[in-house]
Amino acid sequence: MAGLYFHIPYCKRKCSYCNFFSVASSKLKTGFLPAMLKEISAKSSLLAGQHIESVYFGGGTPSLLPAGDIYSLLNAASAAFSLQPDCEITLEANPGDLNESKAAAYKNMGINRISLGIQSFHEQDLRYLQRDHTQRCAVQSIETCIHQGFDNISVDLIYGIPGQGMDSWQENLDMVASFRIPHLSAYWLTVEEKTALKWLLDKGRLQAPDEEEGTGHFHLLRAWAARHGYEHYEISNFAANGRYSRHNLGYWRGNHYLGFGPSAHAYDGSKRWWNPSSVSGYIASVNHGTPAAEEESLDDRMKFEEMLLTGLRTQWGVDLQRVTTAFGAETQANLLTKAASYLDAGWLRVENDCLKATSAGMLRLDGITAALFPEEPL
Ligand code: SF4
Repeated sequence: MAGLYFHIPYCKRKCSYCNFFSVASSKLKTGFLPAMLKEISAKSSLLAGQHIESVYFGGGTPSLLPAGDIYSLLNAASAAFSLQPDCEITLEANPGDLNESKAAAYKNMGINRISLGIQSFHEQDLRYLQRDHTQRCAVQSIETCIHQGFDNISVDLIYGIPGQGMDSWQENLDMVASFRIPHLSAYWLTVEEKTALKWLLDKGRLQAPDEEEGTGHFHLLRAWAARHGYEHYEISNFAANGRYSRHNLGYWRGNHYLGFGPSAHAYDGSKRWWNPSSVSGYIASVNHGTPAAEEESLDDRMKFEEMLLTGLRTQWGVDLQRVTTAFGAETQANLLTKAASYLDAGWLRVENDCLKATSAGMLRLDGITAALFPEEPL
C-alpha cells in the first residue's frame, strides 16, 4: 500500500501562525502545472507493483486552483499509478474558496474526502489567526460539502488561541458534532519561528498563548470526543465510526509515498527525499530532470526514533514485539528501562505489549519521546 501527495503551494494570503511552504498569491506561476504533470509521469515507475490507497491534495490551498487543474493532476496520477478502486482521495479546501459548482466538480472527478481549514467558527479567533474567511463562510463551506454529497469530511480547528475561552472552544466543537462531521483535526496553537505571529508577539502587539488555557482546552476536547463517540486516535486527530485519515495512517505506519510539487517529500522504506522549497527552483529542477533537492538515508537508529515519534502520538502506541523483531531484544529492553520513570509517573503505559502515552503523557510528549531516543547507533 502506498500514498501520493500533491503540494499546491499557493494561498490568498499568509495566516499569521503558518510556517508551511506557501506563496501568498492566487496567481499560479507559469509552468507550475506543466511541471507537476511532468513530475508525475517521470516518477510513474517508482511505485511499480504497489497499490495506491490514498491521494492527498494539500498545501498551501489546493482549492485556490481551478477545479480543472486538480482534475488534470488526478487524471495524470490515475494514468501513471495503480489507484485502488476505493482509494481515499482528499482535497484540502479553505472555506472562502468553496462554492457549489467547485464542490460539485470535485465530487464528479472522484474526490471523496474534503478537509476544511476552518480553524474556528468565531470571528475573534479568525482575526487573531489572520484567516481570510468569516464565521458565515465556515458554516457555508460545510453545508456546501454536505449538499454535494460528501460524507467524508474533515474539519481543522485550532485551540489555545488567546481570548478564545472555554465556552467558545466548546461551541466550536459542538458545531462539528452538530453537522456529524466524521473527522476532526484539532491543533494546539504553537508559535513557530519566522511567522507573522512570532513577530507580532515579539513586538508585544498581540496577547501570547497561555499554556494553562491550552491545557484546559485539550482536556475539554478529550471529554467532548468521548461524549460524542470520536476516537482520539492521534494526538491531534479524532475520528467517528472508524473514519481515520487513511493518508496519515499510511505515514504513521511507515508506508511508502511519493510527493509532487515544491517542498513535497517522498519515502521508499529506506530513504526520504524532497523537492526544492521554491516554486521557480522546483519548476527549473523538474525541467532539468532532477526534482529532488535533498535526500537522506534512514539507518536503524533513525527508523527506531521515527517509530517512537509516530507510534507514541497514536492510540495504538509502539508495538514492543515489532521493536524486538526490527531492532533486537536489547533495543526493546533499553527502551523499557528509559520508559520506567514515565511509566511510574503515569505518563506512559504498557497495554497489550504496546507502549502508549496516557492523556497526561500526551501533554508532554515531545520531551518524553526525546528522552526515549537511544544514545548510540543501533
Ligand atoms: S491557508 Fe493554510 S497553508 Fe495557507 S497560510 Fe493559511 S494555514 Fe498556511
